[in-house]
Amino acid sequence: MCREFKSPPRYQLDKKNMRNINLKNKKVFVAGHTGLVGKSLCKRLEKENCKILTCTKKKIDLRNFTKTNNWLKSKKPDYIFICAARVGGILENSLYPADFIYDNLSIATNLIHLSYKHRIKKVLYLGSSCIYPKFSKQPIKEDSLLTGSLEPTNEWYAIAKIAGLKLCKAYSVQHKCNFISAMPTNLYGPGDNFDVNSGHVLPGLIHKIFDALKNKKKTITIWGTGKPKREFLFVDDLADALVFLMKKYNKSDHINIGSNQEVTIKNLAKIISKVANFKGKFIFDKKKPDGTPRKFINSKKINKLGWKSKTNLLDGIKLTYKWYLKNKDK
Ligand code: GDP
Repeated sequence: MCREFKSPPRYQLDKKNMRNINLKNKKVFVAGHTGLVGKSLCKRLEKENCKILTCTKKKIDLRNFTKTNNWLKSKKPDYIFICAARVGGILENSLYPADFIYDNLSIATNLIHLSYKHRIKKVLYLGSSCIYPKFSKQPIKEDSLLTGSLEPTNEWYAIAKIAGLKLCKAYSVQHKCNFISAMPTNLYGPGDNFDVNSGHVLPGLIHKIFDALKNKKKTITIWGTGKPKREFLFVDDLADALVFLMKKYNKSDHINIGSNQEVTIKNLAKIISKVANFKGKFIFDKKKPDGTPRKFINSKKINKLGWKSKTNLLDGIKLTYKWYLKNKDK
């Protein structure tokens, strides 16, 4: 069905809007507030004394254009963080390509177009470091985008995220919207998906190690060779970076958010074992994919603006493990 609208008036490049933003008393919509990032972001936004708006997926499916349109029309947020996404680990990404591309594309097209239509003052769209080519020069700079082929295990998700960031840019260029996008490295923290099959490596290994301890098993299985490297960012640090960017960053070019803390998957398993006091051995299941060998992003741009991650990997894993022990049965 063709969705025709009377075009909203062209945005004036509002100089007032482009200055540092104060979120106090403003209506801030966190799309995806029940996810890993959304939950942490809502907690971080409490410090800003803004009015946080949320909607559950059951109430408004953000893939549904009409419902999303009606909701935004009635709530009239000032600012939007787009954290809503279909996410998953390497296996889940390879198993459900249609879901990953369709869900993420429709959330992005609906929310970004409707933000333009409803004249939202500023939008921050959240992507991922998997948008970069599989064999990018490391650390990966923002301008590596679209310079090579993607990692096949997550190309569907990556294509949707690239489309999302390009949508932000297109609306900024054509309609002068203040729509920005941020690309974080691999995330982890309390509230993550600890399901072994659908989640990412860090919560997956926490789950496996906990199970091994519980069942007095002497080994755990690590997918792939254990050699790929990943950079890990604690979710509360990401939430802080998102608020920082919403307040201060007004360029349509996407910006990386990293932690500068990179480990091999094998060493990650060793750190988690130490935290959990697991003394068993690792078995490497080489039939499972390694994915991209390395995706260490260059965070100089955000660092120069004055933001740096605070939580070191060991402390972040301790907090995550503690949260898991407390909440695993819920
Ligand atoms: P990616 O960063 O997009 O590749 O996503 P993941 O976090 O799912 O996987 C990162 C790396 O960890 C890949 O090389 C996986 O093969 C490896 N890995 C090892 N064990 C596990 C596990 O139990 N779960 C997941 N998701 N990945 C694992």
